[in-house]
Amino acid sequence: DKLSVKLCAVLMGNKIESRAKDLIEHGADTVYLYDDEMLNEFQDDPYCELLSQLILEEKPEIILMGATNIGRSFASRVAAKIHTGLTADCTGLDIEPETRNLMQTRPAFGGNIMATILTKNHRPQMSTVRHKVFKKASKNPGRKGEIIKKKIDKTKIKNRTKFLQFVADVSQKVNLAEADIIVSGGRGLGKLEGFLLIEELAKSIGGAVGASRATVDAGWIAYSHQVGQTGRTVAPKLYIACGISGQIQHLVGMQSSDIIVAINKDPECPMMKLATYAIEGDLYQIIPEIVKELKK
Ligand SMILES: Cc1cc2nc3c(=O)[nH]c(=O)nc-3n(C[C@H](O)[C@H](O)[C@H](O)COP(=O)(O)OP(=O)(O)OC[C@H]3O[C@@H](n4cnc5c(N)ncnc54)[C@H](O)[C@@H]3O)c2cc1C
Repeated sequence: DKLSVKLCAVLMGNKIESRAKDLIEHGADTVYLYDDEMLNEFQDDPYCELLSQLILEEKPEIILMGATNIGRSFASRVAAKIHTGLTADCTGLDIEPETRNLMQTRPAFGGNIMATILTKNHRPQMSTVRHKVFKKASKNPGRKGEIIKKKIDKTKIKNRTKFLQFVADVSQKVNLAEADIIVSGGRGLGKLEGFLLIEELAKSIGGAVGASRATVDAGWIAYSHQVGQTGRTVAPKLYIACGISGQIQHLVGMQSSDIIVAINKDPECPMMKLATYAIEGDLYQIIPEIVKELKK
């Protein structure tokens, strides 16, 4: 909107035409549709070739992708192919009005500073965006847009890989990024066993267990539970922070949550200031009371 240009989406896959309408209802003005069985699974060569061709034809100012496993591989190859810059894993985006440059913000130097990066000399400007940092656009049923079905010239695509099978990674026990409710514990728990209380509360409301880095560093819980700049970025409907002070590195990982409940002894700490509901007191008294009420 700030650039007064069209927002276009690129949809690639197999038998996915019906999803184009969904993209329009979520804000796309134009959808470029590539629907072919060769795109059934993501593979770098065909996907990169098709998107690079489209970029050269349409000359967009900006290309955005999710910083997912696929997005990280896809975006970097396309950027190299079309000789432009890529800012990976952004946590903030804005437009510099006088230059039309995209201001791409991301943690730098091990997360100690936030750097805003500009791609001044090359176009398009490319960024991948960290999962859940931005809220999903709301749906506007019946919104109208254009769907452009693209023909695929298979003679131009040299695929050097062959898809064999998809094997799901079941080793990861927690999927914080997808959880609607997260109950997180911090150093205020005082000891490893404190997480039993956090687990009990999480279980009673169907939530996942999160943690601050202080507790992960102390060896009380596995890294896969860590929320924050060097852990997961989450945006659940409900985030309950128990004994977490709310240092900036934790807040950047959860501040887009819909409702934040903080339980803390210190009413002045940043997490209590940020919270939708701040409960002042000892978590070892408050959490058992909440669990007792929930069990009723
Ligand atoms: C480069 C870098 C990256 C980082 N990345 C992350 C990250 O990804 N995630 C992250 O979390 N941190 C990260 N950190 C660390 C961060 O700066 C903080 O040190 C950390 O978040 C603090 O964790 P905490 O809130 O659990 O502990 P503390 O800051 O020690 O807070 C403990 C809180 O518990 C409260 N409390 C104590 N006892 C009780 C009780 N009985 N009942 C209720 N409340 C109680 C206290 O009032 C206090 O507010 C990073 C730091 C750096 C430098």
